Amino acid sequence: MPYLEIRKLEKKYKDFTLSASFGVEKGEFLCIIGPSGSGKSTLLSLIAGLDKPDGGTIILDGKDITSEKIQKREIGMVFQDFTLFPSMNVEKNIQFGMKEKRKSERKKLSDSLLSLVDLEGYGKRSVSSLSGGEAQRVQLARAIAAEPRILLLDEPLSALDAPLRKSIRNAIRAIHDSTGITMLYVTHDREEAFSISDSIMIMHDGKTVSMGTAEELYRKPSDLFTAFFTGEGTALPAHLIYENMEGYLFFRPENAVLSEEPINPDMYPMHIILSDAEILSCEFNGSAYMLGLQYQGYPMLLQSAVKPRRKTVSVMILKESLLNLE
Ligand code: ADP
Repeated sequence: MPYLEIRKLEKKYKDFTLSASFGVEKGEFLCIIGPSGSGKSTLLSLIAGLDKPDGGTIILDGKDITSEKIQKREIGMVFQDFTLFPSMNVEKNIQFGMKEKRKSERKKLSDSLLSLVDLEGYGKRSVSSLSGGEAQRVQLARAIAAEPRILLLDEPLSALDAPLRKSIRNAIRAIHDSTGITMLYVTHDREEAFSISDSIMIMHDGKTVSMGTAEELYRKPSDLFTAFFTGEGTALPAHLIYENMEGYLFFRPENAVLSEEPINPDMYPMHIILSDAEILSCEFNGSAYMLGLQYQGYPMLLQSAVKPRRKTVSVMILKESLLNLE
């Protein structure tokens, strides 16, 4: 049984219904990604107990906590709006939620948490003197100080600039690895999710669409939404290639090669050959050329190590890399 189990959890708003079922193992770092409005924050609010579900069950460590009060859930939260207490210094903020401990221990623990988030010596600083990134790290230290059973992070870095995002997200992953706390991390940034997660759950229109490691979702997406949300690719109507097949055939740009000379299909039984594809755009991305093509009126995206000279080309796709998706 997973450490956290979400069973048919439902929440209805006027034009929106959340409906989620999934499980998270103890110590797992799960990233939840999806477009804006797909229900990520709603899901975290329900797990935290900030909001009541209309149906379904939340099981934590074998116990039904669906109706449990917030304080009793022992779930930590780090959200994007900084919510430190302005009247307390950094150290007091961190010590605020600590479980019963002697004073000397509290000091020792807050010092070690400050060093964990790379803010040694900041204990006596006032909250108002902190930069955005520092305040965010103090918030993280404070959440961990309470020794939560799960830590929920809702776009904690979205207010920060790119270099800071990268350094703090690495710090969050390092903290996860040294504490072993189960973390659910909401982001709309695919690259962020790919770089720090053990596993990723994709949400769309209030539903949990798919779940897996970054590599599984990228290489073997179960549906078109997941395929395009995890990277670039081409989806051609399947009947263009196999007469009686329904749905779409999907492939990644790096799984197709281009030939400027006509190809004899008999020589390549492992490949699908698409002749007379027209190149519409060609952009160098630093390591390869990204080509936009058109095949029988449908757009295709292809990666090529060399810049093509001709406008009309053939495209070869390894059959085993084609996925039949809906
Ligand atoms: P995300 O975090 O993926 O951007 P949200 O969970 O914030 O998505 O929102 C999902 C949908 O639920 C949106 O359409 C939003 O307008 C709606 N919603 C969220 N909270 C409320 C609320 N308190 N009252 C009414 N609608 C809400």
